[in-house]
Amino acid sequence: MTNEKNHTKNSSAPAAKNISLNKPFVDERIIDEVRSVLAAGKLSGDGSVCRSVERQISGLFSLKHVLLTTSCTHALEMAMMMLDLQPGDEVITPSFTFVSGANAILRGGGKPVFCEITGDTFTMDVRDLERCISPRTKAIAPVHYAGVAADMDAVLEIARKHKLPVIEDAAQGMNALYKGKFLGGIGDAGAYSFHDTKNYVSGEGGAFITNTEALARRAEIIREKGTNRENFLRGEVDKYTWVDVGSSYILSEILAGVLRAQLKDIDVIQTRRERIHGIYMEGLRDLERREKLRLPIIPAYSRSNYHIFAILLPSEGERNRVMREMKTRGIGATFHYIPLHSSPYAVSHLGTEGLALPVTDSVAGGLLRLPIYPQLADEDVAYVIDALHSALA
Ligand SMILES: *Cc1c(COP(=O)(O)O)cnc(C)c1O
Repeated sequence: MTNEKNHTKNSSAPAAKNISLNKPFVDERIIDEVRSVLAAGKLSGDGSVCRSVERQISGLFSLKHVLLTTSCTHALEMAMMMLDLQPGDEVITPSFTFVSGANAILRGGGKPVFCEITGDTFTMDVRDLERCISPRTKAIAPVHYAGVAADMDAVLEIARKHKLPVIEDAAQGMNALYKGKFLGGIGDAGAYSFHDTKNYVSGEGGAFITNTEALARRAEIIREKGTNRENFLRGEVDKYTWVDVGSSYILSEILAGVLRAQLKDIDVIQTRRERIHGIYMEGLRDLERREKLRLPIIPAYSRSNYHIFAILLPSEGERNRVMREMKTRGIGATFHYIPLHSSPYAVSHLGTEGLALPVTDSVAGGLLRLPIYPQLADEDVAYVIDALHSALA
């Protein structure tokens, strides 16, 4: 594990630190796991290591089917491919999110329709979701933000009313709950990310999740270049062949080994993140009382995995000023998400120029992410809290 702490001694003025926004939790276990995969000699995907990690994830989070993939983006692509979208078909997703889901909809042949978020959890606003539904709507794709769930009961109610499938982008949501259910397994299909900025990492990687047998079978085929090789390996057919459109979405055994090590540290990672979240809440409460900022809101229905700690500042100008001040103190605090509806691609190709999503715009303008990862020491958290107090004095 690397230690980037500053060890300057005998200096009265504290030297500027270098605190990154996030850092993957890397320990000796990863090296041992990778060494053992390399020694076993099967490096391509879908071998015994992938299988064991898939079983573990499905057991830990009560998910029926878990298929490791090369990324969360790819798992979302698989989900969208299964919708068999026709030109003009629409999928509703928040504008306040990463580009993956919107790309997946486009690559699946559909059109993303951007809806509003709520000001508390920054997840899908169900009243606006209703407004977005049209005769061309084919699915709803909510996103869980920061490890806090979207209001899934409300989303599912609308989905049922209009008979629409729900695809959850749970990239940030592994090991977080909505009313006792693990994220990713609540809708018809879901996706996790193991990108190295997430809580549990394999470098690059993801998982496709579903509780529906038929979707799992189709996912196996899409993930395996459109062939029924899985059925062949199970002895269900005597040779394997091309049966559907697919791609190469299987995670390598080496990266599954990294993931296996991460799962052994799952409680260490969760506990440490929760503690850091608590220190921030405690240390910044007075600034919230003085209306200098707003702290994260975790509704009672949700148990967070504390993936992101995001505060809201009163305006974009103020956020940018504070962000710059944090940078000069060596703190990697950042904004999050240029709203998709105002991104150059959406404006030029999806005609979103005039779309008014005021909550999205105001959250994206005021949001500031603070460093949070297990190796972040209490004294570093205190340093960030002090820096914010100076910036907002
Ligand atoms: C990180 C992230 C993704 C992309 O995950 P990859 O594994 O890098 O493809 C998608 N959606 C959201 C909300 C994310 O945070």
